[in-house]
Amino acid sequence: MKRKIAILGSTGSIGTQAISVCMGHPDLLQIELLTANTNTALLIEQARACMPNSVVIADESKYQEVSDALSPLDIKVFTGIKSICDIVGGDNIDMVLTAMVGFSGLEPTVAAIRAGKAIALANKETLVAAGQIVMAMAKKYGAPIIPVDSEHSAIFQCLQGERATVEKIILTASGGPFFRKSVKELESVTIADALNHPNWKMGEKVTVDSASMMNKGLEMIEARWLFNIVPENIEIIVHPQSIIHSMVQFSDGSVTAQMSTPDMRLPIQYALTYPFRADLDTKRVDFAKLARFEFHSPDHEKFPCIGMAYEAIKKGGNIPCAMNAANEIAVEAFLNGKIQFVSIPKIIENVMIGTEFVAEPTLEDIYKTNDQARALATTLINKHTSR
Ligand code: MG
Repeated sequence: MKRKIAILGSTGSIGTQAISVCMGHPDLLQIELLTANTNTALLIEQARACMPNSVVIADESKYQEVSDALSPLDIKVFTGIKSICDIVGGDNIDMVLTAMVGFSGLEPTVAAIRAGKAIALANKETLVAAGQIVMAMAKKYGAPIIPVDSEHSAIFQCLQGERATVEKIILTASGGPFFRKSVKELESVTIADALNHPNWKMGEKVTVDSASMMNKGLEMIEARWLFNIVPENIEIIVHPQSIIHSMVQFSDGSVTAQMSTPDMRLPIQYALTYPFRADLDTKRVDFAKLARFEFHSPDHEKFPCIGMAYEAIKKGGNIPCAMNAANEIAVEAFLNGKIQFVSIPKIIENVMIGTEFVAEPTLEDIYKTNDQARALATTLINKHTSR
């Protein structure tokens, strides 16, 4: 039986690789829905190649273009976020891959969970902003959440068949492009420097997050919720080779690691075909040729975002949501040349301080915090640039 897949965010880095995974296993996976924010040209090309049941272009001003282009084909075309939320709950969909960028992924993910769909979670911001609510909802509606993020997929794979108590999760990080730079050198890095990741080819937002190591902070919070483990038992270790994608330490001291050459198609495919493992033509690890495996503690002075993420999850409530919102706005401002790279953590810190604490937020509180934190971050950035 084929699993019927909805790919939300099909034109991004994860989305395009997910399509290639699905096309590689037409006997197992069938694409039913593709959604994109604004990239009409690629969405139309993908739709022609995959022949899904429906597509959604979120940007309503682009609906006519997509609709006209696909009108000769038997593909339904919709527009708007609300359409995505309606369609992901449909009977023709078994699993929803959430590969949109940022907080905007929360609403459709919640809609898919409410419909009891299996979620292949590639949108970490959903769990950072509203982890407690989303996990409780997934339990209530019986919606399994399978991680796509390479580290969380690694942990999930290490846990298969285990009934033992997890003592610690060891979250590996490549260290990003600035691992070997000094604190002083970080002050003058450019946008191109930040986008030049040594091991992974990813979207711009996550690549900048990797450079600031906020990505690892977000992933620590993601792991906290996915695996129901306290943050004190999640350790971040820099492993520049990116062969070990994360590890689990059990109560007998045994450590299990998942390894492969870095290739996002692997965790994407594992989530889509779970609990089965299908063939994939990744480059195999050649241990004899690997010169070394390195491990380092992260440098908290150079990468203050990691500490902020631990602080945010320790405070809990709506603070991780505010942190995430501030980060999204700060990264965007950095990519638009409005602020320096080293200003990113300063903006986030000030937004966290300026956020009114809500200990037990509802989903409405989370949306409100997100809006307020974005507005505050924008104000801080404008003040900063007008100086
Ligand atoms: Mg990751």
